[in-house]
Amino acid sequence: MSNRELFVLGTASAVPTRRRNHNGYLLRWDGQGLLFDPGEGTQRQMSHAGLAANDLHWVCVTHFHGDHCLGVPGVVQRIARDGVAHPVNAVYPASGAAYWERLRHAASFHDTADIAEHPVQGGGAELAGAGFTLTALRLDHGIEAYGYRLAEPDGRTMLPEKLREHGIRGPEIGRLSGPLLEECSVPRPGQKMAFVMDTRLCDNVFALAEGVDLLVIESTFLDSEERQAAEHGHLTARQAGRVARECGVRRLVLTHFSERYTEADEPLFLEQAGFPGAVLARDLDRIPLPPRRRTGD
Ligand SMILES: [Zn+2]
Repeated sequence: MSNRELFVLGTASAVPTRRRNHNGYLLRWDGQGLLFDPGEGTQRQMSHAGLAANDLHWVCVTHFHGDHCLGVPGVVQRIARDGVAHPVNAVYPASGAAYWERLRHAASFHDTADIAEHPVQGGGAELAGAGFTLTALRLDHGIEAYGYRLAEPDGRTMLPEKLREHGIRGPEIGRLSGPLLEECSVPRPGQKMAFVMDTRLCDNVFALAEGVDLLVIESTFLDSEERQAAEHGHLTARQAGRVARECGVRRLVLTHFSERYTEADEPLFLEQAGFPGAVLARDLDRIPLPPRRRTGD
């Protein structure tokens, strides 16, 4: 099983359908679980996906429209009920703090959940995770919304034959520096993922998606509803595909589809996105990050 993988929990936009739950995604990143935009029904979708409250370390809300946050009460209460021992970080737009408070305390429960709150304001924020940086950048939607980018720092991959050649072993490897380190290792680009939900095209969409291994991006509408997309602060599949191409994205995941479309319309999303290998997300899909880039890729 891949240790970096996206669990798709829901792929509908404002109105869930028989085939698509409200939005929701869990990114498993080594030992950490980042839950993005838990819409209504996320707790049950997690069960279907084989995920437990204990798998959660971060809850990241892009904005406070219902399809991006109505699952918060169930998830928080489950964290408490299951006695999750580690703290869970919550990131959300500061302007929606009143909504967060209500969702966090929506019903009566024995509240033992240890939730560290990180409201984001202004242009965005940068938060330190276990082995990654989580960046939030402001998007362009009807209400304040932020997209997220998770980036692992660049590192180096050791070359065993070079280490042997120089007789370097054990703890000496960790102490290598300068020209010897350069000779005995090659650069290892860190992996990156971006999560871009409700927004019009804007500079920060491109900034979030630049060079990522995995881009999860809303494509609520098709070309035929392009004007509606702009009016309501959404992207079309074509715009999502353009972002992926211009940013050198490796794997593109389209999601957050309007309920107006039927299954028969779905090939049009891929066609209009025009990005090789793009994935049209379905509920309960598991999508691994592509293998790590090698130097020179
Ligand atoms: Zn929205």
